[in-house]
Amino acid sequence: MALPNMATDPANLPPKKTDWKSRYADLVNEYDHLKSDHTREGSDWKKAISRLSQVIQEFSLVDDATLQPLTRALSGDGNAESIATAVNDFCFQLPEFDNGLTSSETSNTGHSATDYDPAQFEQVLTNFCSHLNLDPGSQQQILGTDPEDCSPAHQLNRLYEVVQRHSGQLAQQPFDPAISALLIEMVQSLPKFPELDAQLEAATSRAQTCDNLNNLLPALEQFAALADTVHQKIEQERQQSAEFLNSTWQRLTELIGFLDSTKNDREQQSKASNHLQQGIQTRIAALVTEADATQSLPALRAILGDSVEQIRNQVNSYVEEEVPRLRRAEEQCQQLGRQVAELKQETDTLRKSLEKKQQEASRDPLTGLANRRAFNRLLAQEQERWQRYGRPLSLIFLDIDWFKTINDQFGHKAGDAALISIARILRKSLRENDLLARFGGEEFVALLPDSEPGAAFEVAEKLRSAVMETNFRFQEQAVHITISCGVSTFADGDTAEDVLHRADTALYQAKDKGRNQSEVG
Ligand code: GH3
Ligand code: MG
Ligand code: MG
Repeated sequence: MALPNMATDPANLPPKKTDWKSRYADLVNEYDHLKSDHTREGSDWKKAISRLSQVIQEFSLVDDATLQPLTRALSGDGNAESIATAVNDFCFQLPEFDNGLTSSETSNTGHSATDYDPAQFEQVLTNFCSHLNLDPGSQQQILGTDPEDCSPAHQLNRLYEVVQRHSGQLAQQPFDPAISALLIEMVQSLPKFPELDAQLEAATSRAQTCDNLNNLLPALEQFAALADTVHQKIEQERQQSAEFLNSTWQRLTELIGFLDSTKNDREQQSKASNHLQQGIQTRIAALVTEADATQSLPALRAILGDSVEQIRNQVNSYVEEEVPRLRRAEEQCQQLGRQVAELKQETDTLRKSLEKKQQEASRDPLTGLANRRAFNRLLAQEQERWQRYGRPLSLIFLDIDWFKTINDQFGHKAGDAALISIARILRKSLRENDLLARFGGEEFVALLPDSEPGAAFEVAEKLRSAVMETNFRFQEQAVHITISCGVSTFADGDTAEDVLHRADTALYQAKDKGRNQSEVG
């Protein structure tokens, strides 16, 4: 049977027809809006966690296996749940890193992980003890056996005490000139803090003028005090890092709590809308059946009015439940936005300061060149490349001739100025891809990728000529400075130590043959 046109008859319209429709449309709009906010916040959140994981990686205490699931979830199209699971797992491990920072196991030598190589310091200290002819027992005592006792501060304090105790015996033996260079190396290999640069420079100058036992003792006392300050700085830094990780862990835990609660809300919302849809479908199906069975128009009107009323009630109760849920989601989104912004700012600041420290830790403060530690790291990388691709790789050791005389004649400040300008001359004469580092004292090293022995020798000669042809002047007086070079090239089966050793031997041959020349080893 044909149904009458109910819409044209105002008497047949349900009360406030547009009310629930417009509320529902508003709700849908609001929901879309929140959803896009949510997506944006989600991507901010991803970025923040990704940065955080990078920051934590900088502490060198997180192994790859721990970070992998998090990195994978963040880099792909991981949905919120999979990211939340990865973050959750990751967070469970954060307290361990936190403890790791303060535990004696990971910090057994008591040094910051980012800017200090304990093995290098101990090597220099051992060389120093040998040059002083200290007996093995005293050496062992200085180095220490208990990990808690092996910080440079403790070692330098013990060195000072031992030298003081043996001063009678040490006064009997000739003073080894290498001691001054070793002292400088020892000071330079302490962990670096920019705010201690002035003290470091003062200690270095002191080491340069050290040429007998009488000035060795006060120099060692000064170094021990410097190492104590460095030790305190490291402790302070470790404390700050531990606090940062702790607060980050708490923040991440809050974020996970938030994700869990929005997930619950989303589940409830989807249940409620399914319920609404089913209710309406059931009502419409019943309406069609009843309308088919109805013979009279008034009865049909009554059935329709009834059904519309029921649907309206269902929609109203859905809207009433949904609005507070959406409000809550909106508040949570705003709160999340604030948390993400704070976290981002904190991780950015920490990252910048770590990057700065890392840069400072790999640079020689006097010349601005890479220091020995950075050089060793790059040498290992280049060596790996050489092994993989078989491209030639050479290195040159460069040592200033008679540099002690320059210091003695013109003073250490002039010596420092000469080191700075020689570093500049060498850098200028090399290709951009070549690495130049200050290896220690008045010794430099150049690493030349893609260079055969013949080409490397030519580079060494070019560097030597560049220094020789420079007119140095100190207080109106012309000073002639030259360098000697030892060249070597990686060959099958070589370790980096083999190549460094060959270059060193070649350098000493060049010295033996009269200096101001290059030799290949
Ligand atoms: P050779 O030709 O055999 O290399 O003689 P040399 O005098 O250059 O070598 P030696 O090893 O006897 O002396 C190196 C000197 O370099 C001793 C040390 O005081 C000085 N020196 C090392 N580092 C610095 C530094 O940073 N600044 C200054 N001014 N002098 C330094
Ligand atoms: Mg020299
Ligand atoms: Mg030297």
